[in-house]
Order: sequence, then C-alpha cells, then structure tokens
Amino acid sequence: MKEIGHYIDGKHVAGKSGRFADVFNPATGEVQARVALATEAELAAAVASAKAAQPGWAATNPQRRARVFMKFVDLLNQNMNEIAEMLSREHGKTIEDAKGDVIRGLEVCEFVIGIPHLQKGEFTEGAGPGIDMYSMRQPVGIGAGITPFNFPAMIPMWMFAPAIATGNAFILKPSERDPSVPLRLAELMIEAGLPAGVLNVVNGDKAAVDAILTNPEISAVTFVGSTPIARYVYGTAAMNGKRAQCFGGAKNHMIIMPDADMDQAVNALMGAGYGSAGERCMAISVAVPVGEETANRLIEKLIPKVESLRIGPYTDDKADMGPVVTKEAQAKIKGLISRGVEEGAKLVVDGRDFNLQGYENGFFVGGTLFDNVTPDMDIYKTEIFGPVLSVVRAKNYEDALALPMKHEYGNGTAIFTRDGDAARDFASRINIGMVGINVPVPVPLAYHSFGGWKASSFGDLNQHGPDSIKFWTRTKTITSRWPSGIKDGAEFSMPTMK
Ligand code: NAD
Repeated sequence: MKEIGHYIDGKHVAGKSGRFADVFNPATGEVQARVALATEAELAAAVASAKAAQPGWAATNPQRRARVFMKFVDLLNQNMNEIAEMLSREHGKTIEDAKGDVIRGLEVCEFVIGIPHLQKGEFTEGAGPGIDMYSMRQPVGIGAGITPFNFPAMIPMWMFAPAIATGNAFILKPSERDPSVPLRLAELMIEAGLPAGVLNVVNGDKAAVDAILTNPEISAVTFVGSTPIARYVYGTAAMNGKRAQCFGGAKNHMIIMPDADMDQAVNALMGAGYGSAGERCMAISVAVPVGEETANRLIEKLIPKVESLRIGPYTDDKADMGPVVTKEAQAKIKGLISRGVEEGAKLVVDGRDFNLQGYENGFFVGGTLFDNVTPDMDIYKTEIFGPVLSVVRAKNYEDALALPMKHEYGNGTAIFTRDGDAARDFASRINIGMVGINVPVPVPLAYHSFGGWKASSFGDLNQHGPDSIKFWTRTKTITSRWPSGIKDGAEFSMPTMK
C-alpha cells in the first residue's frame, strides 16, 4: 500500500504517529493509498523549519521572491497533465475540470508575481515641519492553511501564494481525502527556487488542526471547509491570539427572471449545478424561476438535460461529471434526496439508483432534480454538496430576492435577466458576497478578492486579490523627524496638524 507522509524542510518525511486515513479512488471505491495523520510533535517540527527559514526569506528582495513564482508557474504548466491526473485519481472530478482547478490556483501565483508593486508601502513627505510619515507592510511571520477536499490544487495555491510572496513561511494542512497534489505543489515550489522550510506540508486531521491553532509561533490561520469547522477554527484561532480568515459552506441561488434567455439559463444551470458533481462551494444548488410560466419552461428544458448527463470515471474524457468523494458523502446525499421526498418536494429526476457498469463500487450519484421545494424543507436549508438541484418557485421578483436574503449562507448568487434595472437592484440589495449577472458561477479573478457573507465566511479579509496582501502582512507606520536642531522644549498637549 502506498504511504503518503509529510513534506518538511524540503524533504519528504514519513509519518510517525501510526495513525493513517485511507485515500480512495472514488470511481472504483478502492483504497489506493494511506495518508499519515500528524501529531503535535510533527507539526512542531514543521514550525521549527519554518521559523529557521522565514527571516532569510523575508529579507530576500521582492523581485527575487516574485521570480520563484515565475518559475513555479512555468513548472505548473509543464506538469499540468500529470498534476491533473493525480488530482482526478483522488478527487474523482474529470480531467478537464481538474485542469481548471490547477489553473485557477496558477492565476493567483501569476497575480503575486506583482508582489514588488503590491507590497509597497505609503509615504507622506512633510506631514509636519521636518516630519515624514511612512508605512510598510511586513510579513506576519509563520502562517498556516487548512484546506477542503474539493479543490486540492486551487485552494492551497490561493493560500500559500500570497502568504509566501509577502515574505512569510507557510504550513499547509491539506484535506486527508486528496493529499497528493498539495505535496507535489510543494516539491515544485522548491524546484522553482524556494528555500527549504518556507513551505511545509503536514498531513492530518483534527489533531493536526488543533496543533496549528494552539502553536504560539503561528501568527495567522486561513481555513476553507464546512461552516461548523470554519466557525470552530475562527473562534479557536482568535482565542489563541491569531489572525484568522475562515470560509465555510454555501447554498447558492440562481434567480431566473421571466425575460431571461431560457436556453442560456438552462445551460448555465447544468454546468453550475452538476459540474464537479455539485461539490463546489460556488455550485448553484437552488434555481428560483420567477412566475409559474417561467418555472414550467425551465423544468421542461432541464429534465432531458439532467437525465442525459454523462457520468463516469475521470478516465472517460466525455464525462460531464464524476463520482462524489467518499462512500459517506454518497450515503449522505442519497439520504437527503429521500428526505426531500418525505418532506413533499417533487422528485423529477432521481439519481439515487445510478449504476455504472464496471464501477459498481464507485461513489456515484446520478443527477437529481427537485421541483416545488419550499424554504421550510431540510433539502433547502442544508448544503447537500452533491449533484442535486432544487427548484423553488417564486411568485415575483421580491419573493425571489427574499429567498437568498433570508438563507443562512451567503457565498454566491446569480440572476439571469435581460433587464438592467432588475440586475442593478439585485446586485445592490442582495446580502451575499459574490454576485453573477447572467454569470452562474461568479468566482472573482485572481486580482479581485474571493469571499462570502453570513455563515459562509468568518473574518474580515477575503482570499486572493488585494485583501490577501493585507491579510498576510502587518502595517507598521513610522513617523520621523530629522530636526535641524532641538529648538523647542517638550510638548504636553496632543499633537495635531492644525
Ligand atoms: P471539512 O470541513 O470536512 O474539512 C475541511 C478541513 O478541516 C480539512 O482539512 C479537514 O481535515 C479539517 N477538519 C475536519 N474536521 C475537523 C475538526 N473536527 N476539527 C478541525 N479540523 C477539521 O470540509 P470538506 O468536506 O473537506 O470540504 C467541503 C466544504 O468546504 C463544503 O462545505 C464547501 O462549501 C466548503 N468550501 C468552501 C469554500 C469557500 O471558499 N467558502 C471553498 C471550497 C469549499
């Protein structure tokens, strides 16, 4: 059995805890490797390595730091096929989708190549007589990142690229479901010229996370995963005096106005609802057609498309989507579909009995479509995180708007319409972090910042873009006076610029 360990101080290190988690091939259901689960002492070894490497890295001029990312981007492109295959084998998503996972991370590495400019401070000459005031953005020191299973390339890069580019050392604790790609990324960073110790990868579960949260040398923690764990990590990190940004779950609504181009809306919903088997925090899981006539047209067009989804292993290059990540996830999703039926929602396409010849033990769930879902139902309130789309019919625009507004989560949302006035009103009033107008999955590009509102995010600074530079640095402001000579005595009242 292949054993996956840690990557500390530029070297692969075997796990010593004697505890392991199985890593599956979700398409076949087979265990293909086991990953070591770190102890507090193993985490401490990574912290010691980071602590030794960080001052030298922070002192490296920003152009040289940027050049590591230039080379890394180059290496990612050269190794794209190998990384995508490695990713799909553990996650289950299609190869094309896995390349998307890598590329959306790579784009943040491209963004941080601008670090000499991004990290510049501010300067005011002559803030007072003989006084100059300037601020600099210094690294926080050692940062740590805890990632979910669903984007094993993109989210680690969203975290470590801005952290490392700004001069920090970084410890990555990847998801134990698909740990191989994060390790490969760390190898490539070293190959790109990063000094050993600046990026360490420690695999593990709650024990490793708790070791991160209580380690006094770690100054900042970034987390992406489900909301209960995000809330826990945020609270515990803050209690231990750490800066934290924690991103949680989602239930993203797409509103379809009566004037929307229905073919465009249906195609958008298919990709956004069923791509990656619905295992995306920006997936659309609720469609809200406005008016009965819009709803009927939508359902009529959706049914044949959901029924004809091509579902297969990642080795099928024509598959629209693959399996879900684990047997537990499969059972949870099927259980929620049954719950929806009990609650009285209309199950229009049922994916529970989907079976693929030759892959009977794979963790597949067929595309599923519910109509007449109402806000009191569990399938509406819960993040299902599978290929299940719920249609909630709204009488008018105000009723449609009220649905995502009142939902616990606030990650993403979209409106499909040809009416600029409705689109503007929606963008202005909605209490959700990322909004698409005729764009179903409005993930901001690398040079903007990514983050939700409400229970989808804890903390005040988002991922990548300008916010990430702020998160990974501390501002120091210097007020200097170079007097030509001490002319006056002490000043006892509060100095002002009058
Ligand atoms: P998860 O919360 O189960 O795991 C995330 C990380 O937390 C993993 O590294 C895991 O090892 C660790 N962890 C798990 N249980 C823990 C515990 N009790 N204490 C401490 N750490 C623990 O999430 P997942 O299933 O890997 O990922 C799916 C979730 O992530 C979904 O809810 C999805 O919406 C969310 N997600 C959010 C975003 C976003 O940006 N908002 C992006 C991607 C995924």
